[in-house]
Amino acid sequence: MKINYLVLNRRKLIFLFFSSIMGLFDRTIKADQPGTENWALTNEEWKNRLSTEAYSVLRKEGTERPFTSLLNSEKRDGTFYCAGCELALFSSKTKFDSGTGWPSFWDHLPKAIDTKLDFKLIVPRTEYHCSRCGGHQGHVFPDGPKPTGKRYCNNGVALIFQPN
Ligand SMILES: [Zn+2]
Repeated sequence: MKINYLVLNRRKLIFLFFSSIMGLFDRTIKADQPGTENWALTNEEWKNRLSTEAYSVLRKEGTERPFTSLLNSEKRDGTFYCAGCELALFSSKTKFDSGTGWPSFWDHLPKAIDTKLDFKLIVPRTEYHCSRCGGHQGHVFPDGPKPTGKRYCNNGVALIFQPN
């Protein structure tokens, strides 16, 4: 009886140990990039989800015509979300008027974007996209204002603005 009791206890402990580890692991992933795995949509699914313009930018790395986005002149306090998956990408606190005709920011929210080199215009540019759904947002240039000196040149159609 005594041995059985010990074995049960040990099994219980092992079970508790592993379930707590798995629970932690699960939470870490969710806190980091909530639901990344849910955003592996097919082209058809993206087409159904997005407008033609947003699909062209987010999924085909298209570029909207300058001065066409209403977000260009958006000056209210708030947050800019990915139009693909609604992850928060930029704060209005980092928005500035670059005069380029595209909404511009000197920084992004933590862990919101990933970058890659793009050779479409021969001269390499740094492309950036939503870290959750991979949707193309724009390009980042080293001619922005302080404190970062960066200019995140974003397609307005790839963003959704939510005022505070
Ligand atoms: Zn996204």
